[in-house]
Amino acid sequence: IVGLGGAGFPTAVKLSPKNADEVDTLIINGCECEPYLTVDYRIMLEKGEQIVKAVRQVQRILPNAKAVFGIEDNKNDSIKVIKGFIKPDDNMDICELKTKYPQGGERSLIYAVTGRKINSKMLPADAKCVVLNSSTCFAIYNALYENIPLIYRYMTVTGDGVNQCNNFKVPLGCSHQYVAEKCGGLKDGVVKIISGGPMTGFAMSNLDVPVQKTSASILAFTEDDVASVEATNCIHCGRCVSVCPSNLVPQMLAKTVKRNNYSAFEDMGGMECVQCGCCSYICPARIPLTHLFNVGKAEVRKESNKQKSKGVN
Ligand code: SF4
Ligand code: SF4
Repeated sequence: IVGLGGAGFPTAVKLSPKNADEVDTLIINGCECEPYLTVDYRIMLEKGEQIVKAVRQVQRILPNAKAVFGIEDNKNDSIKVIKGFIKPDDNMDICELKTKYPQGGERSLIYAVTGRKINSKMLPADAKCVVLNSSTCFAIYNALYENIPLIYRYMTVTGDGVNQCNNFKVPLGCSHQYVAEKCGGLKDGVVKIISGGPMTGFAMSNLDVPVQKTSASILAFTEDDVASVEATNCIHCGRCVSVCPSNLVPQMLAKTVKRNNYSAFEDMGGMECVQCGCCSYICPARIPLTHLFNVGKAEVRKESNKQKSKGVN
């Protein structure tokens, strides 16, 4: 089992922190990780009882952890369902969170639920937390109660280029093309297909690709807002700064990457970028900021690995 929110981190590793007794909060991520996606919302509505049962089992591994379901306040029906399955003697609670992106990001969620901050060098366990996605909890339930390994996942198929938007239970390995056909196919005039969400997902050149554990969605759009506009110069409006959840200054970071000055990128906190895409989305100059930060982070890691292989700390 791996994290089904998109990152695919092995769940067994997550549930084996060195300080298991010190973990005081088990956060169940009930926030959708991206706009357009509704898969976690549906799974909480339809599999709430199974999710709560799985959480009780996880609490046996983390004996001092209170389980807190972090659910956005636009999902009142899922809040009601989960609440209905929590018994009075369960060490569980629901934390209603403001609906905003990227509320489902691990760092944002830990901060919203506990007020504790972690950075890129820390693990959630350093903040005495473990975070599990609601779909992952359902996979744990299947493994423990039904003896079913992770051989299928749930996916959202949506966007204005899809004939019948829906959520599906999909066997792993099934072609994306087959999933799209189950939605009545894609409409004529689709110009962009994305695997994952619109903010952090990646463009697909064709659908003849197998569904993997991390394939959360297929989005099909008839207009590509970003590609249709050429990037222009920064007008120093500061909008990117105002939306950054990591409190970075994206326009300054972008300059360091454009100049290949990766040490300056690191000094300015570039490694704390969670690649949420908010800065690129809001930028009126259409500068591909997030893409630049992906490059910057990859270059810093490359240099650090090079230094490690030379034995330099
Ligand atoms: S992608 Fe942009 S907004 Fe998001 S964390 Fe990175 S710099 Fe901040
Ligand atoms: S949002 Fe775009 S134009 Fe505005 S300051 Fe940031 S990079 Fe420059």
